[in-house]
Amino acid sequence: MSQYTPMILQYLQVKADYQDAFLFFRLGDFYEMFFEDAIKASQELEITLTSRDGGSTERIPMCGVPYHSAANYIEQLVEKGYKVAICEQVEDPKTAKGVVKREVVQLITPGTMMEGKGIAEKENNFIASITSFDDRSFGLAYTDLSTGEGHVTFIDSDFEQVVNELSILGVKEVVVSEIFDDLFIKQLKERNHITISFENDTEIKTEFARIIADIESGELKQTVIRLLNYLHRTQKRSLDHLQPITTVDLHQFMKIDYYSKRNLELTETIRSKGKKGSLLWLLDETMTSMGGRRLKNWIDRPLIDSRAIEKRHLLVEIFMEHFFERQELRERLKEVYDLERLAGRVAFGNVNARDLIQLKHSLQQVPAIHAIMEQFHHEEALKLSNSLDPCEELTDLLERSILENPPISVKEGGIIQNGFNAELDQYRDASRNGKTWLARLEQEERNRTGIKSLKIGYNRVFGYYIEVTKSNLHLLEEGRYERKQTLTNAERFITPELKEKEALILQAEEKSTELEYELFLQIRESVKEFIPRLQRLAQIISEIDVLQCFASVSEKRHYVKPIFNKERKIVIKDGRHPVVEKVMDAQEYVPNDCYMDKEREMLLITGPNMSGKSTFMRQIALTSILAQIGCFVPASQAILPVFDQVFTRIGAADDLISGQSTFMVEMLEARNAIMNATQNSLILFDEIGRGTSTYDGMALAQAIIEYIHDRIGAKTLFSTHYHELTVLEENLEQLKNIHVSAMEQNGKVVFLHKIKEGPADKSYGIHVAELAELPHELIVRANEILAELEENSDQVKETPKMKEETVQAQLSFFEEPNTKVKQETSSKDKKILEELKSINLLEMNPLQAMNVLYELQKKIKS
Ligand code: ADP
Ligand code: MG
Repeated sequence: MSQYTPMILQYLQVKADYQDAFLFFRLGDFYEMFFEDAIKASQELEITLTSRDGGSTERIPMCGVPYHSAANYIEQLVEKGYKVAICEQVEDPKTAKGVVKREVVQLITPGTMMEGKGIAEKENNFIASITSFDDRSFGLAYTDLSTGEGHVTFIDSDFEQVVNELSILGVKEVVVSEIFDDLFIKQLKERNHITISFENDTEIKTEFARIIADIESGELKQTVIRLLNYLHRTQKRSLDHLQPITTVDLHQFMKIDYYSKRNLELTETIRSKGKKGSLLWLLDETMTSMGGRRLKNWIDRPLIDSRAIEKRHLLVEIFMEHFFERQELRERLKEVYDLERLAGRVAFGNVNARDLIQLKHSLQQVPAIHAIMEQFHHEEALKLSNSLDPCEELTDLLERSILENPPISVKEGGIIQNGFNAELDQYRDASRNGKTWLARLEQEERNRTGIKSLKIGYNRVFGYYIEVTKSNLHLLEEGRYERKQTLTNAERFITPELKEKEALILQAEEKSTELEYELFLQIRESVKEFIPRLQRLAQIISEIDVLQCFASVSEKRHYVKPIFNKERKIVIKDGRHPVVEKVMDAQEYVPNDCYMDKEREMLLITGPNMSGKSTFMRQIALTSILAQIGCFVPASQAILPVFDQVFTRIGAADDLISGQSTFMVEMLEARNAIMNATQNSLILFDEIGRGTSTYDGMALAQAIIEYIHDRIGAKTLFSTHYHELTVLEENLEQLKNIHVSAMEQNGKVVFLHKIKEGPADKSYGIHVAELAELPHELIVRANEILAELEENSDQVKETPKMKEETVQAQLSFFEEPNTKVKQETSSKDKKILEELKSINLLEMNPLQAMNVLYELQKKIKS
């Protein structure tokens, strides 16, 4: 090692502290990477790998990116889940003795990115920390560095729920202690692609006391401190904008696990994983980024306190009733800049004058928003608008200080208004007067010499000069002009008088630019003091924004205000699936009613493929979720219970999510619902049991239905293509059959998408195959087979409660036509089959049936 050059040694020393990050090592105008970092970065970033002499016998792999375009490369690496340590020269290379001192000034990680393509305007970028107290209880803290909001929560079920929360929040980086369970770490990394960082320091720093003041639990405090200390250690800059961490009680919200959220496509679609096509997409009529983030947050956490929900409904109603005011409000909101992220950037010291102008424009909207809300003449609306803090002192400061169209650079002047600072005004006068003086001098010199083309110019090297073309040189007065520069056809001169004025003008300009920068910094500092007030303002504005958004969507799509009841009744008239309705043109959508109560806890839905079973089920869940986030719902009337939890399980065949879904996963999720659901939950089981063989699946489906019916009593929608299950209605009191109707026209199926009472009568699978244009011959054959199957299974259909014996019996019936046995059936066997067919099972007791069976078996064996 000692053979390396001093610079490489320095590199290795710094790198030792940042093993898990790419070290961007500043060398002049480049960030260089060496050794392993260089090899890996050259691959990830597709940049050229070179090498350099580093003192040892072997050359050192090296690659680099220019300083000015580094941001783009850093972003690429962080997007991929890597960390990047920025190592700068911290002393002037000109005065340094030996190797220039270098230090890491910031560690950029997926959870601490503040800007760039990966940071969506309307999404939070949370970084989390987890502490495990024992196998089943965890602390989870999370904060968004760009907005300053932070929360902590206690999780008391298992690690799966921790992962669930992380997925819902979209966390990309998690901070844990070095003794955190390796298996958990492995899962987070490999299954959830989360970047892991370590922090062992849980000592409370005084500067963070303010942030953790509201947390009561010592354990949760520790979880938060770990996160704060990590941010402090890696970011090396002000965290003043972090808001006090609030404790979230997950039991205060409707519980929907991550998979159910995905199945219901609440914030992203299953196929594209994008926002488009999701409930969030449908709802997002927010006008501000803050409102956009709040909307997502509300969708992620529907409420269960009916009073709180009804308050939102009331406000939505008020907003709906005032169409013109709402339009005006939307116009105002459009002008409001992202105050939360701005506050973050103020704290970090990277706002420019343009940001401050946007801040000013935003604040100027506040009195107008307040005035509009006053026109609603409603107590609740007033309560909300009265908590809007217009931060008048700040608006006033910005109005007086910053010019309307400032440049991006904050160091080159042109930012501060006249009249804001007397000293600045003086410098500006001086420089302005100087310029008038120059113009006058130019005129005087022309008069004196009679040279019309004489002019006064300026360049950096010689300062101000008088320029005379060669042909006019003879007109100049001897001794008055001092030659400074010769051009091809002109000469440049100065005079003592000009030099003196020049000094004054330049000094004034330089001083004025310097002073402007200083004043700008002062203003920025003053803005910093307003951070907590700006954050509070942002909070209220975002709420107003989401409420107006609910009102706008509800009005546009003709939603109604849902009414909650404690009798666990569901009455939905003309219900629609909000997203399908929007996508398909509202006219075509067939609305459906849904009625459930204590006598109808479970609905078993049958109907052909593509008839609308899944759509109907999801529509009930989405309606409930919409109601509980405070929005109106797509129906003409809606009476709903407040659901504590929603579970969905979509059968393997419909499971487009990952393609890797196995029957095991299906069963695990069914278990999750069965173990956690209460009477107040909503369960959607869509074609469960599809992932295994028919009889297995059917038996499981039945057992699950019976279990939920007898032991849980949750409101359950169960769709199935096992027509055989419809007989369950006879024995399970609270289960009712419904079906989605379809009609046959000229041998083709027409989907009516209308929900009707009772079981569906026929399978239309073959017609769907026909629609899909399978070969005609094949369709004909399928119809033949179906006819035989139906003939053979007619009797068993009537069986009251299916027990395994019947299932077994059906097995032989169904399989028969598909096996070769059929072709070999002798006439004797045929006769036996005929006999079997003619047996009327309903008029027999089990013993008689046994006897008949015995006889038949004897015949076959003989
Ligand atoms: P299933 O689950 O019964 O196979 P889906 O619920 O997936 O059927 O619905 C199939 C298609 O039918 C959907 O993509 C949708 O376009 C259409 N559809 C479903 N319900 C309705 C409805 N109520 N009105 C109009 N079209 C519907
Ligand atoms: Mg379906």
